[in-house]
Amino acid sequence: VISSRVYLCELIACVDVNTGCKTLPGYNGKVLYPLCTVLDAGSSRTTVYVYEWPAEKANDTGVVSQTFKCNVKGPGISSYGTSPREVAKPIDDCMKKVTEKVPSDMHKNTPAYLGATAGMRLLRLQNETAANEVLASIQSYFTTQPFDFRGAQIITGQEEGVYGWITANYLMETFAGVNHIIDAETTGALDLGGASTQISFIPDDTLKTFNSTLQVHLYGYEYSVYTHSYQCYGRDEAEKRLLASLLQSQIDNPCYPQNYETVLTMKHVCGSLCTQSVRPANYNPDRLIHFRGTGDTAFCQEVVSLLFNFTACNDKEDCSFNGIRQPKVKGKFVAFSGFYYTVNALNLTGQFSLTDFNSSMWLFCSQNWNQYMLPKFEETYARSYCFSANFIYYLLIQGYKFSADTWSQIHFQKEVDNSSIAWSLGYMLSLTNMIPAEIQLIHLPMNP
Ligand code: AMP
Repeated sequence: VISSRVYLCELIACVDVNTGCKTLPGYNGKVLYPLCTVLDAGSSRTTVYVYEWPAEKANDTGVVSQTFKCNVKGPGISSYGTSPREVAKPIDDCMKKVTEKVPSDMHKNTPAYLGATAGMRLLRLQNETAANEVLASIQSYFTTQPFDFRGAQIITGQEEGVYGWITANYLMETFAGVNHIIDAETTGALDLGGASTQISFIPDDTLKTFNSTLQVHLYGYEYSVYTHSYQCYGRDEAEKRLLASLLQSQIDNPCYPQNYETVLTMKHVCGSLCTQSVRPANYNPDRLIHFRGTGDTAFCQEVVSLLFNFTACNDKEDCSFNGIRQPKVKGKFVAFSGFYYTVNALNLTGQFSLTDFNSSMWLFCSQNWNQYMLPKFEETYARSYCFSANFIYYLLIQGYKFSADTWSQIHFQKEVDNSSIAWSLGYMLSLTNMIPAEIQLIHLPMNP
């Protein structure tokens, strides 16, 4: 049965969806349905996405679009380690909306995936039982849902990096072999999450391989993607590490704006695995700590720089920080998620010079709290933008070694045509075999 428009999503048997079914060449009598939902279970929050595409073009790039997004209320799923039964309740509010959005005759053929990132990687390291209980609770919740739930998984940092890179290039249509492009230049991906940060790009010298180089086969082409994920260098965990470092001597925070005061629990600052090593001997999770902002940008820069171990690279080329090998950055990059939120707060987006970034950062950091544009920004985000901007500076310039010249190759952007740049789309494309040549995550041998 041939219909004018068929909604297809996964390699499943042909199902009558009123509009009829259509067999696509190469799929052996099976059809694709064009709706999928992915839950991006990040460290700070969970986001539910619905993706959709026209079936006849399922194999092209850039045809999948995000048609719905729902931010789950409350913290990320890793915060439910001590109350795993509670984890599904706020997710259900978003899933109810997805249920309304997806036509009911498509529910059971709509795959749903949940991928968890660094927050859960950290919880698993800290308390594996708790992490498993959280995932089991989600799994159990989805048995009550009409969708074709394909499981809740913790993805690795490398997967997070490479799926972000696939998403960016898929949305920007920069893969070779698509739209008759032969010599396409792919775009590198810079993702700043709450608990980890990822860099992924195709290096200049592909012969020189690195520990974190993955072979990716897409649309008949093979790419050697360098990708590295830095655990505890996500925005939130990095800030906790800074706050914990201040605890040793004082509680004046040079990165909070002047006139800003807040009280945080010791658990908030030192309860995470990222700050475990700097916990004071008299650690009491419920103890309250009073932080006072001083808006001292120069001192803020100094304490932020201490979050990175630059000396571990011994001035070696091909090394970022903490002794991690990294090829020289090359070509265009897109910086999304936390990178985008931060520059947006500085009134910058898209492409701008390093000089503009620095002057906006100084201007922003010198404001005092009552000059902040509240309620335009939420308090917990607003108080931290000066820290985030300095953190981004050290990460990109001293860490990844972008220069004033290569900085202008970075595009700070959160979406393409209303579809978010996030690892979740690349994850969905890969798991549903939407990209013809499968991704193979193969480690290349390390160059001596
Ligand atoms: P996400 O994109 O949810 O993984 O968030 C990445 C990082 O950005 C986390 O550190 C969040 O706390 C932070 N973040 C999320 N939304 C905003 C926002 N609107 N403004 C500033 N930071 C944000």
